[in-house]
Amino acid sequence: MDLERSIRELARRFARERILPQARSWDQEARFPWPLFREAARLGFPVLLVPEELGGTGLGPRALVLVAEELAYACTGVAAALLLNNLVADALLLSGSPYARGFLPRLREEVASYALTEPHAGSDVAAIGTRAEKVGGGYRLYGRKTWISHAPEAAFFVVFAKVAEGREGMAAFLVERGVGVEVGPPLPKLGQKASPAAEVYLDGAFVPEEGLIAREGFALAMRVFNRSRPMVAALAVGLLRRALEEALAYAAIREAFGKPLLEHEGVGFKLAEMYMDLEAARLLTLKAAERAEEGEENALEAATAKSFAADAAVRGVSEALQVFGGNGYSEEYPLAKLYRDAKVLQIYEGTSEIQRLIILRELARRRIWENR
Ligand SMILES: Cc1cc2nc3c(=O)[nH]c(=O)nc-3n(C[C@H](O)[C@H](O)[C@H](O)COP(=O)(O)OP(=O)(O)OC[C@H]3O[C@@H](n4cnc5c(N)ncnc54)[C@H](O)[C@@H]3O)c2cc1C
Repeated sequence: MDLERSIRELARRFARERILPQARSWDQEARFPWPLFREAARLGFPVLLVPEELGGTGLGPRALVLVAEELAYACTGVAAALLLNNLVADALLLSGSPYARGFLPRLREEVASYALTEPHAGSDVAAIGTRAEKVGGGYRLYGRKTWISHAPEAAFFVVFAKVAEGREGMAAFLVERGVGVEVGPPLPKLGQKASPAAEVYLDGAFVPEEGLIAREGFALAMRVFNRSRPMVAALAVGLLRRALEEALAYAAIREAFGKPLLEHEGVGFKLAEMYMDLEAARLLTLKAAERAEEGEENALEAATAKSFAADAAVRGVSEALQVFGGNGYSEEYPLAKLYRDAKVLQIYEGTSEIQRLIILRELARRRIWENR
């Protein structure tokens, strides 16, 4: 716990002193923030989940959400750029493959991507069309992935592909960048621009035998989601906290009708609602991370935290922008960027609708009403 508290303090200081002053320019340049990544790597943030003996920080999902909230307070795009290696680390660790484990030390200096989504298969993960053909000494992969975060910079990829038809035929491969792997230009996007995403084209990319890191790829993808969703929820919490603080500070000094906005109940109620959402979102996030930390099943908690926090962030940042009035719409004030950055929180790592489907499925599966 003490270690977690100190890493949170470290993240808070790093966010305020290093990210905050640069956030606007990384957003405008829409580039991966390599200098910040290298600084963050020295503090261990991109490899929080990598065991110490493999060059990582050796912490768990609870530390990850604490750090994610702090970094996202300064910029969710930069936070994603600095933390997504942890998602890849989780996939490599959970695969149980010794070959995959060998790639973990590289995550401190290199960026890796997680390639699941395709142009015709996002929410419906099992519908992916990328296929792996058995050849002498390994496999060749054919297909097209889209919206792959950090692909333009990635040294290697965890790629999901089918070795046979259907969900059961889905496997996970570790693919080095190189012959047979092409990455498209960064996709133009609304927000979180310091975290570029691109398409990845697999045209016979060769993977050695041991590069098939999980035969049960669908199950692996679901287990990774359960551990990554609390991190996305924490990004939403950080963004919401920032939006609330910006709106409070503005409302305390901006006057209308002879008194500060804060003293107008119609404005104050918005801020009170945001605070309630923020506190609830943080507790749900910690609960989901806590269960992952203890190795307990957490699909229900992760989906609840992710959807609640993302929806609260989108709602809250919209209200905070409203409190800024016309200035909220200006890129010279902080709310416009927060507004752009928030929306994708309801989309990646499973949309808010998909989280509700999972919540419903888990409630039905656990049959909790039978224990009344
Ligand atoms: C910036 C960004 C970064 C990303 N990074 C990555 C990455 O690194 N790796 C990766 O693999 N993917 C990544 N993604 C992809 C992301 O996970 C998908 O976009 C997401 O899962 C939604 O899939 P889709 O875009 O195909 O939408 P669709 O699945 O086509 O869904 C469209 C709409 O229909 C709704 N919908 C679909 N099915 C149902 C249903 N059964 N019931 C109710 N509503 C439904 C959805 O909620 C959504 O609102 C990223 C996306 C973005 C935008």
